[in-house]
Amino acid sequence: GFKCGIVGLPNVGKSTLFNALTKAGIDAENFPFCTIEPNAGVVPVPDPRQDKIAAIVKPENQIATTMEFVDIAGLVAGASKGEGLGNQFLANIRETDAIAHVVRCFDDENVIHVANQIDPAADIEVINTELALADLESCEKQLQKVVRTAKSGDKEAVALKALLEDKLLPQLNEAKPVRAVSLNENEAEMVRKLHLLTTKPTMYIANVDEDGFENNPHLDTVRAIATEEGAVVVAICNKLESEIVELDDDERAEFLQDLGMDEPGLNRVIRAGYELLNLHTYFTAGPKEVRAWTVKVGATAPEAAGVIHTDFRKGFIRAEIVGYDDFISHNGEQGAKDAGRWRLEGKDYVVQDGDVIHFRFNV
Ligand code: GDP
Repeated sequence: GFKCGIVGLPNVGKSTLFNALTKAGIDAENFPFCTIEPNAGVVPVPDPRQDKIAAIVKPENQIATTMEFVDIAGLVAGASKGEGLGNQFLANIRETDAIAHVVRCFDDENVIHVANQIDPAADIEVINTELALADLESCEKQLQKVVRTAKSGDKEAVALKALLEDKLLPQLNEAKPVRAVSLNENEAEMVRKLHLLTTKPTMYIANVDEDGFENNPHLDTVRAIATEEGAVVVAICNKLESEIVELDDDERAEFLQDLGMDEPGLNRVIRAGYELLNLHTYFTAGPKEVRAWTVKVGATAPEAAGVIHTDFRKGFIRAEIVGYDDFISHNGEQGAKDAGRWRLEGKDYVVQDGDVIHFRFNV
């Protein structure tokens, strides 16, 4: 599965968000084959397209695709120096595929702020500095290793040394993330192998007051920082979300309508996380079940088949495909066939977002 780690200073609303996510999520008992850590929550990825497909197919069952959120509490100034169990937290972040960085943008004198004032720019800098310092240490170690081999003229070592000295270390010395450095293909490949923290795709979750979605200078600050770094911002009121998630379905619909919202804000967080990871969805649709599956953007048909079962990949013959729009506008597979919108694709086919697929394979 794909994991998104939730980080941020103490008291910014991480646990509130995480608890809302887990309540909206799937009970651990529905995952008998994997252990879900206490600080991890598995949530269904909300996708209205699935309901539209199901309305045509009328299956017995529907299964959404999921992603995992991990609460990584305790990242504070000094973490990279091992303070406050800091190294453990950095290790937890290393295991995630993306980072959701919660930033406090709400005023509430009853909730103490660690630095005594609401200052999103300063808060973001504290966390990003710790991540950059951790990467700085990794890169310095790497440089020490590579210096000798570079002297002997090893081409790869020379290239890595130059990359570290000219691009990565100067950036990290300014406590800036490596993801903001422009790299060519070859450099990007070298950077991938370094497994740095500041290359992880990041979104800022601006935790605002109920009425803080507009004319909120704190939120504007977060947006400006994100734009500069090429990161995404999701504004949400975690406190409100924790109330929404407690309601039953009818009450929730009414409550959301009163607030003028189409859906819980959590959905935007989940979807943003999904997009951040460069994932998309294909569907399988039959009378038993309509199900959404996750693949990396660019995955081929056999790779997509492998998400269901490794045997599907090994024995892959062909994929029967109906694009999502065709499936809906022609009222399902038969209609799409009649309209000539049903395709048989081979092993090089690159799966498109929303494809409805039936795999043919040898067992
Ligand atoms: P964490 O330390 O980052 O996990 O922060 P918590 O989620 O425990 O939240 C710290 C305090 O802020 C709690 O008392 C929450 O009820 C409160 N809080 C969280 N989100 C909001 C919000 O959107 N608005 C307001 N007013 N309070 C919030």
